[in-house]
Amino acid sequence: MTKPDLNKTEQAAIAAAQDFASGYLQRNSQTWEQERHMPREMFHEAAKAGLCGLLVRPEHGGMGIGTSALLKVMEELSYVDMAAAFSLVVHNNHVRFIDKEGTPEQVTHYLPKMLAGEIVGAFLLTEPQGGSDAAAITTSALPEGRGYVLNGEKAWITNTPHADLLNVFAQTNPDAGSKGIASFQVPADTPGITRLPAYDMLGGYAIGAGGFRLENVRVGEDALLVPAGQGFRAAMAGIDIARACVAAMCVGLLRAGLDTAMPRLMSRSAFGRPLAEQQGLQWQMADVSTSLRACSLLAYDAARLIERDGAAPEAAAHAKKFATEAAFAGLQACMQAVGADGLKQEFPLARHLAAAKMAQYLDGTTEIQNVVISRALQKAYAD
Ligand SMILES: Cc1cc2nc3c(=O)[nH]c(=O)nc-3n(C[C@H](O)[C@H](O)[C@H](O)COP(=O)(O)OP(=O)(O)OC[C@H]3O[C@@H](n4cnc5c(N)ncnc54)[C@H](O)[C@@H]3O)c2cc1C
Repeated sequence: MTKPDLNKTEQAAIAAAQDFASGYLQRNSQTWEQERHMPREMFHEAAKAGLCGLLVRPEHGGMGIGTSALLKVMEELSYVDMAAAFSLVVHNNHVRFIDKEGTPEQVTHYLPKMLAGEIVGAFLLTEPQGGSDAAAITTSALPEGRGYVLNGEKAWITNTPHADLLNVFAQTNPDAGSKGIASFQVPADTPGITRLPAYDMLGGYAIGAGGFRLENVRVGEDALLVPAGQGFRAAMAGIDIARACVAAMCVGLLRAGLDTAMPRLMSRSAFGRPLAEQQGLQWQMADVSTSLRACSLLAYDAARLIERDGAAPEAAAHAKKFATEAAFAGLQACMQAVGADGLKQEFPLARHLAAAKMAQYLDGTTEIQNVVISRALQKAYAD
């Protein structure tokens, strides 16, 4: 992807992301990791930079950027803090969901405050019993009067500490499988909702992963965003973009890995010469560089196909699978090359390594990408 492919708004969004990453995120990410918490202020600051309405149409106050530009924005943010970047991906997807699927009332009610970072969004699909088989969710939404009653529990929800508006996926008819799944817009302070504490994890705390318990949560019929029959499809509609985005985030992580390791190898010596002249280390860094290039090509190729065809499940799965594995292996190599100091928080490598591991679960695990790729392979050879 070259700059001329992007329009002026998209170039401005990327420049804003670079400024936000090198300024605000760079100043705070390490502290957030040590405190195991990202403050709510991040959404306000991101909104000021235009990063809360990336996918919303300009006539509704957003930037309306395309998939390739979105990937580049997320690559730039992840270069400094992938967990914070993913938190913004979830928020932006929610805002786009409202913009695209919402009733005029929902758009008027929620959109301006979401664009301003005053209402934070969250996507509640995964449940404690499992996330890969998303059609098997058991959180129920049963009709009652002129509304619904929701019961169940959601797990591994990004933005749990800050979310104000929950995009809850629930089963309206257990006999209907994926066709019974609908999506509801539920304010997080609705009676019956318990916000569970964010998880104690390996790292990447800015993502704010946690859960919500829903006990007899009563919502009106106006809370229904996507009805049964379309809810599961809506949940999966943006999945190719999300997977390509995670791949681009891994590009940012690998760039950060090389930018940390290479200066160190060139300035530190062992056995009478710079580490950068030791062939074993040279080859390791050369492999990371190759991975970086391959991840970038796969990610932006998936974006190009999504922009051309509207969807690109196989390309997005290849990109996500390859990039998350390459980022984890590449960051591990960079950390090893830096020596024991790589374990310290003052080098961002430990935080980036945790982020690369998280990336292997987000928006479908590596194994689920293989399911998608295998399906495409079988189809290709059956035809
Ligand atoms: C940091 C973080 C943030 C997240 N944010 C959100 C969010 O905002 N909203 C949300 O809804 N979810 C979110 N998730 C959940 C994520 O989507 C799930 O973790 C993911 O879908 C996998 O589900 P699981 O962890 O329950 O693993 P399981 O589904 O229990 O799977 C366990 C293992 O079995 C493997 N497996 C499953 N099926 C197959 C198969 N058919 N073939 C081979 N192997 C298989 C999986 O790959 C995995 O390795 C987040 C996860 C993380 C780590």
